Amino acid sequence: MPETVVADPILAVTDRAEAVPSQLRKPKAFNSFQIAQAQFDKVAEYLGLDTATRDLLRYPLREYQFAIPVRMDDGNVKIFRGFRVQHNDARGPGKGGIRFHPQETIDTVRALAMWMTWKCAVVDIPLGGAKGGVICDPHNLSAREQEQICRGWVRQIAKNVGPLSDVPAPDVMTNAQHMLWILDEFEHIHGGRYPGFITGKPVDLGGSLGRTEATGYGVVFTLREALKELGIRPENTTASVQGFGNVAEYAIELYTRLGGRVIAVSCWDQADQCSYTYRKRDGIDLQKLQSITDRFGGISKSKAVEMGYELLPGEAWIEQNVEILIPAAIENQISGENVGKIAPSVRIIAEGANGPTTPEADAQIEQRGILLIPDFLANAGGVTCSYFEQVQSNMNYFWEKDEVLGKLDVKMTSAYVAVSEVARREKLYMRDAAYAIAIGRVARACHERGWV
Ligand code: NAD
Repeated sequence: MPETVVADPILAVTDRAEAVPSQLRKPKAFNSFQIAQAQFDKVAEYLGLDTATRDLLRYPLREYQFAIPVRMDDGNVKIFRGFRVQHNDARGPGKGGIRFHPQETIDTVRALAMWMTWKCAVVDIPLGGAKGGVICDPHNLSAREQEQICRGWVRQIAKNVGPLSDVPAPDVMTNAQHMLWILDEFEHIHGGRYPGFITGKPVDLGGSLGRTEATGYGVVFTLREALKELGIRPENTTASVQGFGNVAEYAIELYTRLGGRVIAVSCWDQADQCSYTYRKRDGIDLQKLQSITDRFGGISKSKAVEMGYELLPGEAWIEQNVEILIPAAIENQISGENVGKIAPSVRIIAEGANGPTTPEADAQIEQRGILLIPDFLANAGGVTCSYFEQVQSNMNYFWEKDEVLGKLDVKMTSAYVAVSEVARREKLYMRDAAYAIAIGRVARACHERGWV
C-alpha cells in the first residue's frame, strides 16, 4: 500500500494579486477540492464502492509541500512555496501539469490532481493523476528567477517524480522553457538522459508532433461521433464558440474541414477588460481572424468590424441559433443565470474548456436533453498526446504527425463511444457516465493491486 503524506495547508493567497490579469483575479468563492470530492461521492454511491475504496480515492495518495529558496536579481533571497500532489497511480505513473499562480492553494492542486486521475482513466491511457504548482506570479519575475524556481522545484522532489513514477507538463503560466529547465536539473541529479520525465517539450528536444493541435482536434473527434449518433451531418450544422485560443482555433479548423460553419466566436479584450462576440452569419474565416489576433487569443475589434463582423456583447455567443456550442475559454461560463438563453436549436455542447458549466446549468441541460460532451472527455486530446510524447520519448523514436493524430482519433473515438454506451444503457447524463467509467476503472486497478 503506498505511503500517504498529508502536510499542513499553507497560506492560500499572496500579496501579488494586483499583478494578475483580471481574468485570473476572480474571488475564490468555492473550494475546488470539496467540489471534486462531492462529484466523487456521488459516483462512488452510484457504483456502490466499499468504504476503503472511497476513503482511498477521496484523497490524494501522496502530497509534497516544500520551500524553494531563490536568490532574486536584487540579491535578496525569497522563499517560494512548491507543491506536488499525486492523487492516484494505480493505473500508471502520475501525470499532470505544474502551475505558476499567485493564488495557488493546496486544495486547488488536490482537486486538479484528482481530476487528472479521472481524465486519464476515461480515455483509458495507462497513467494516474498528479498536479504541481508554485505560488508565484511570473509576470513579476525575471527569466533567471523563474529558472531558479524551476530548478529549485525539481531539487526538492527529484526522488519522488520521474518517467516511471510521475510525469509533469506545462500548465497555467508555465511553458516548454520551464519544462526544459526542470528536465535539465532532473537529468543533472540522476546523471542520465530521461526525456520521458517531462511532456510538453519542444519538438526538437523530444516533444511530439501534433501536440499543438491535439486538444482542439480531440474536441472535434468527440463532436463528430456525437453528431453521428444523432444522425446529423456536420455540413448541416453551425456552431458558436467561446474563446479563440489554442483549443478553440484548432477545434474550429477541424470542424470547418468536416463541413461545419462557425458563425460566432467570443474572446477577451485586454484593452476594454471585457469580452466580445464576433459574429458572421455566413461563417467566420479562421485564417483571416487569426491574422488579427494577439498571442493571448484576443481579436482586434476595429479590424474585425472592418472585415464585416458584427460586434456583440461577450455573452452573446451562448444565445446564437446554432446546433453546437463549444465553450473553450474559461470555467463557469454556462451558469444558472444564462443557461436559459441557450437557443432551442442547440443539440450538442462540447466542453473544450475545463469546468465551463456549473452544476446548476448542468441540471437544466440534462433536462432539455442537450447532448453534453463533458470537459474531461472532450478536452482529453491534450493529455492523450502527452502520453504519446512520453511513449515516444521513452523509446527515443518519434512518429510522424499523421501517425500521432491518427492514434489520437482512435483513442478519442473509442473513449466517446464507451461513455455514450454507458450513458444510454444506464440512462445517465454524459458527465455522470464518464465519471462512472473513470472512477470504476481506477477503483478496479486499486482492487486488483490488492490495495483495498
Ligand atoms: P488560451 O489562453 O490559448 O485561450 C483562451 C481564450 O479564451 C482566449 O481567446 C481568451 O481571449 C478567451 N477568454 C478568456 N476569458 C474569456 C471570457 N471571459 N469570455 C470569452 N473569452 C475569454 O487557452 P487554451 O489553451 O485554448 O485553453 C482554453 C481552455 O481549455 C482552458 O479552460 C484550459 O484549461 C482548457 N484546456 C486546454 C488544453 C490545452 O491543451 N491547451 C487542454 C485541456 C484543457
